[in-house]
Amino acid sequence: MLIDTHGHVNFNAFKGDAQEVLRRALDSDIWVVMPGTQYSTSKRAVEMAGQYEEGVYAAVGIHPIHLGEKRHVDGLELQSALLETARPGRAQFLAGFETRSEEFEYEKYKLLARSERVVAIGEVGLDYYYESKNKTKREEARKKQRHALREQMKLAQELNLSVIFHCRKAHEDLLALIDGWNGRGVVHCYTGTTEQARRFVEKGLHIGFNGLILKQVPALPSPEEVVSSIPLERIVLETDSPYLAPPQAKEERNEPLNVQYVAEEIARIKSISLEEVARVTTQNAKTLFGI
Ligand SMILES: [Zn+2]
Repeated sequence: MLIDTHGHVNFNAFKGDAQEVLRRALDSDIWVVMPGTQYSTSKRAVEMAGQYEEGVYAAVGIHPIHLGEKRHVDGLELQSALLETARPGRAQFLAGFETRSEEFEYEKYKLLARSERVVAIGEVGLDYYYESKNKTKREEARKKQRHALREQMKLAQELNLSVIFHCRKAHEDLLALIDGWNGRGVVHCYTGTTEQARRFVEKGLHIGFNGLILKQVPALPSPEEVVSSIPLERIVLETDSPYLAPPQAKEERNEPLNVQYVAEEIARIKSISLEEVARVTTQNAKTLFGI
C-alpha cells in the first residue's frame, strides 16, 4: 500500500473522470490526500473525499500564489524540466490558469476544515518565484504571504491538523517562520538544499517527494543527495497531480497511481526494498494525517 499525500484530483484537469482516477488508485491500494489551493478547490476536495469511506482525504487552505495580484500561471513552466520527455498531444491543463487574488478568511476556512475527512491545512506557504520586480511591491506581497501562512498555521493548531507547506525559493523564510512552532507538517514537493532539509527534519517536519526526484533539474540540488540525507521515517510520497508526471507515465496528466514510480526511485536511491519504502512511508503519512 502507498499514500499519495499530494494529488489534486479536485482540480479541473480531472473534471470528467475524477472518480475513475480515484478508483484506479484505490484498486491498486493507493490512498490519496487532495489539497485545496483556494476556497473553491478546497471545498471540492472536501465534497469529493466525503464520498469515500476510506482512502480519499482532503486538505483545505489558500496557496500563496492566490494571495497576490491576479496573473496567469503557465502550466508548462510548472512542469519544469520533466517535460523533456515529450508525450503525444498536449494536455489542456498545461495551458495554465488565472490566479484568484483571494484573502484568507479564518472563520470561513475553519468551518470547511471541520468537515469530515479533512486531514490537513494545505497547501499553504511561501512562493517567491512569481515576484514583482518592484521592491516595495515584492516586500508587500511577501508580507501578505507570511501573514496568511501564520494565520493558517494557527488554524491547524486550533483544529489539531497537520500543515501541508508549499515552499518555492523561500526556504530560509519558512524555516524562520516555523521556528518555535510545534505542529505537524510536511514540506511538499521539496526543492530546497540538503542542509535546509536537515533543518526541516530537526524541527520535526516531514519531506514530500514526487516525480521531481526522477530527474536532475538544473536549478535544483541533486535529488539523490537530498533523498539520501533524510531518514526514511521522515519521507512521504506524493505526485502533485496533475503536474509533474514522471518520465515513465504514459500521459502528461499525472495521477495518484504514478506514486509507485516515486516509491521505486526512493528504494533505488536508498538501496532498500520497495516493500520497506511502502511500509514506512505509508506509516509516516498515516501518523502525519491521523488516518
Ligand atoms: Zn500542489
